[in-house]
Amino acid sequence: MPSKYIVVLGSLMSGLGKGVVTSSIIKMLDFYGYDVLPIKFDGYLNYDCGTMNPYRHGEVFVLDDKSEVDMDFGVYERFLNRSITGDLSITGGKLFSSVINRERTGEFLGVDVQIIPHLTDEIQKRIVGIAEKRKPDVMVIEVGGTVGDIENSYFIEAMRQFSIRQDVVFINLTYVPTMDAVGEQKTKPAQIGFRLLLQAGISPHFIVCRSETPLQEKTKEKLALFANLDKGRIIDDSDLKTLYDLPLHLMDQGFDRLLIKDLGLTKEIRNNEKVREWKDRVDKVMHPRSRVTIAIVGKYTRLKDSYASIKEALIHAGAAADAGIDFKWVESSDLEGKADVKPLEGIDGLIIPGGFGDRGIEGMINAIRYAREAKVPYLGICLGMQLMVVEYAKNVAGMPGANSSEFDSSTKYNVIDLMESQKGIKDKGGTMRLGSWKCKLLGNDTIAYRAYGKDEVEERHRHRYEFNNRFRKRLEDAGLRVTGITADGSLVEFVEWTGSFGIGTQAHPELKSRFESPAPLFVSLVEAAKSRKEGL
Ligand code: GLN
Repeated sequence: MPSKYIVVLGSLMSGLGKGVVTSSIIKMLDFYGYDVLPIKFDGYLNYDCGTMNPYRHGEVFVLDDKSEVDMDFGVYERFLNRSITGDLSITGGKLFSSVINRERTGEFLGVDVQIIPHLTDEIQKRIVGIAEKRKPDVMVIEVGGTVGDIENSYFIEAMRQFSIRQDVVFINLTYVPTMDAVGEQKTKPAQIGFRLLLQAGISPHFIVCRSETPLQEKTKEKLALFANLDKGRIIDDSDLKTLYDLPLHLMDQGFDRLLIKDLGLTKEIRNNEKVREWKDRVDKVMHPRSRVTIAIVGKYTRLKDSYASIKEALIHAGAAADAGIDFKWVESSDLEGKADVKPLEGIDGLIIPGGFGDRGIEGMINAIRYAREAKVPYLGICLGMQLMVVEYAKNVAGMPGANSSEFDSSTKYNVIDLMESQKGIKDKGGTMRLGSWKCKLLGNDTIAYRAYGKDEVEERHRHRYEFNNRFRKRLEDAGLRVTGITADGSLVEFVEWTGSFGIGTQAHPELKSRFESPAPLFVSLVEAAKSRKEGL
């Protein structure tokens, strides 16, 4: 069977949750047992997301194959429960550089190279290339940005051309505001968005409406009339308690049935085991038996998207441990000065996530010290692990001024240091220790082993600095345990406290946490937080 295609386009504004809608569509098809592949187009001219600031663009997501991609890839994997690859990320940067390279090698000799047809052909060639190689049943293509932008216009044109040759179902995500005073829903913006799409030569098969309140019948009728669609094709995407409820909410409206029909697919499995299990997890998120407060201390906490995977990993772990998570986002610079850790009082667990640069480092170290002394369960991720080592070196192992050479190049105790292989690298794109790395766990009486239940694990990485083995013995003698190392034994991957629950990993386990298979370390943290709270 040749692959079928779904294209998701957003109207009016960003931030409507196109990634979540795309992922929910993917999940519905996955429930049916179809092999679905997402593709994301981003119009920016960066080759990938590796050099972007999480404060502006949200977190940089890393895949097994070392690709640094848009955070929507995280949403796809969290819903799909499968690892995907970097070729599914198509950026303006990749497209332009490939067309220009081909021009330089003489592929277009004698011709003036143009957006149409050369760039639009390149887009279609890439999509068909992926379909031919992987042979998925359905490919779901999410177009970044909004209809009417210059940045994605050539991509939308490519999709219009594509639909002449292939079976394509177009889905338009739009916004329906509710006027507060009377609760009336306004369809005019959605109509304008729809018209822009028509101007681009595309008539959507479905209109999905983001709104604060459930879509009223009147609203559906009006939009259906303007868009030449059946009322059943105007889909409600109003606020839900958890985003993981969206696939079920879409199915309740019969969206899956119509989609399957439009795609010419035939499977009829609806209420299978997978759907029931998903529902159970959603129930656990909505009605947990207990609650824990987890503080996340970082330097990008004012933009929650910077830590999207950490947040979701905690929600997944909460569903597994039957605990609701109360998030406490703390800006690390607020914990500096007089070592004031007041904002952390009353927390049940602490996470220090990854990060770069020296702003807020002292505050993070103060938070770690507080957690160690007050026996608050702690999970340190990448930078959080490095600072756990720094804090221990300074405050327990008698190494005053200990630091990472990222923050103090002249310290005598550079317990975290630049890897040999990193020295001399000048390029910034794709040059860190990236992607999936195998790690050997040491011993079986460790937090890491108890969490994973096996002695070889694989997690994703994105960093330049490492635990400095020169200080390993001294730190271990002082009570810091090294509980995981790279497969070749050369690099430290996990460290732990002995007196209470505290673990740091050089990896980013949050990047592999999925709703149906939560990251083991996050589950352990939430369980430890629960026990501490219940024991108090
Ligand atoms: N800045 C640190 C490094 O490069 C940590 C990076 C991270 O937390 N991802 O090693």
